[in-house]
Amino acid sequence: MSSKEKTPTNLGEGNIPAPLFNCKIQYTKIFINNEWHDSVSGKKFPVINPATEEKICDVEEGDKEDVDKAVKAARKAFQIGSPWRTMDASERGRLLNKLADLMERDYLLLATIESMNGGKVFSHAYQLDLGFSVRTLRYCASWADKIQGRTIPIDGKFFSYTRHEPIGVCGQIIPWNFPLVSLVWKIGPALCCGNTVVVKPAEQTPLTALHVASLIKEAGFPPGVVNIVPGYGPTAGAAISSHMDVDKVSFTGSTEVGLLIKQAAGKSNLKRVTLELGGKSPCIVFADADLDNAVEFAHHGVFFHQGQCCIAASRLFVEESIYDEFVKRSVERAKKYTLGDPLKPGVQQGPQIDKEQYNKILDLIESGLKQGAKLECGGGPWGDKGYFIQPTVFSNVTDEMRIAKEEIFGPVQQIMKFKTIDEVIKRANNTHYGLAAGIFTKDLDKALTISSALQAGTVWVNCYSVTSPQAPFGGFKMSGNGREMGEYVLHEYLEVKTVTIKISEKNS
Ligand code: NAP
Ligand code: MG
Repeated sequence: MSSKEKTPTNLGEGNIPAPLFNCKIQYTKIFINNEWHDSVSGKKFPVINPATEEKICDVEEGDKEDVDKAVKAARKAFQIGSPWRTMDASERGRLLNKLADLMERDYLLLATIESMNGGKVFSHAYQLDLGFSVRTLRYCASWADKIQGRTIPIDGKFFSYTRHEPIGVCGQIIPWNFPLVSLVWKIGPALCCGNTVVVKPAEQTPLTALHVASLIKEAGFPPGVVNIVPGYGPTAGAAISSHMDVDKVSFTGSTEVGLLIKQAAGKSNLKRVTLELGGKSPCIVFADADLDNAVEFAHHGVFFHQGQCCIAASRLFVEESIYDEFVKRSVERAKKYTLGDPLKPGVQQGPQIDKEQYNKILDLIESGLKQGAKLECGGGPWGDKGYFIQPTVFSNVTDEMRIAKEEIFGPVQQIMKFKTIDEVIKRANNTHYGLAAGIFTKDLDKALTISSALQAGTVWVNCYSVTSPQAPFGGFKMSGNGREMGEYVLHEYLEVKTVTIKISEKNS
């Protein structure tokens, strides 16, 4: 397995084994206190393979009562004097590394499940999702014993210091587009800081999270430290966000649900909230850019994982003088795809996650046609089963069209034209979102000016979609609050306590 950083543009390099044939799903229950539980209601829900529309298995459906049980277990594990609270910080790091080891052992199985359940191209699941998840856990493991407070020279005869303490029970609600990566982005930082967690995976994609639950137990985490409750958003998810005994909630998903999560915190116990939400990210290509490089990154920026990325470069602004050539090359690139079952070799594009997303994307494509954008390729469904959509490119897109304003979350590229720097900065920032942005130019001054002016949590210059556990990630404006990963994420999972002690004499 190569340790080389994988980005959407270099996937497929290196040896990738075949997915596991006849992969059996072992874990379908609710994970609380390192034990498997049936749902209190007795209900289950079906998990579907989006490429075939066939049921993979049924999973126990968690609801409020199950969340209550999980929160109780997490609270108990967080009690003063508990095995988790008295554990050395370095031991927390060792457990996280052990979990990473076990994920490496089960690499092929996890990549197969991730591909089958999430409609992910297998080679991407193998290289990117698994590789990124393991490296994220190891990154977090190495922070565990490096979290330090300070001594503070306050006025008077006192000795003052800060302790950086875990917040407590963290509710973590995750989406379906990167089920495993989202899981480790949540549990890695929370656990290295010493918190306990209750995770709700997305209803569409609970299977890799449940397999990881079995590894949590095998790694030796004390019971109750990690609890995983599969279920639906308005029931299990809402029970977490409005729970009076959950100290913090971290959510990744739509801006619409992000608003509900913050309201639920405000109406319950003012729990701390961090949100990683949607985007409508601009990608700006100047005439002086390396055109091949810009076409390739802009293409992967929006088409990677069928467009189901929060950072999707779904507003592409291209300078007038190269516009026609750029459109031509982008269309040629988009037409190269082989669609099909993502577990099969040679397939480059899988299905959308479910019927709801599929219909939403087709409706937005329809709106593009009605509002006068030029359809360059694609534009409709593909195949006779599964939720496949043809790679679609629109040119002559203008800012007021729905396809230029709304998050599509599908394989649909919007190419707009611009003339001046001031104009493109204004247009790029003219959105409620602010997650990511890209700039393509050989002019360093231009790149620096624009990267300062753009309202986005991440700006890429002459590249796109490059993420790594060491770099913070999150949104400006309605793309979210707080940051995930990098050193910055630690602040989101720690309380700062000031301790001041009276002393008899003070010297500098
Ligand atoms: P979503 O509803 O925001 O789902 C994200 C997570 O929140 C899921 O676990 C979901 O449960 C849960 N949830 C839903 N309603 C909730 C509530 N009232 N209280 C607490 N938790 C709740 O996203 P979606 O419906 O799957 O996708 C809709 C759109 O969201 C997409 O088209 C896309 O634009 C955006 N999206 C963004 C991201 C991202 O990475 N930022 C990821 C996914 C989707 P369920 O499993 O029941 O849905
Ligand atoms: Mg949903």
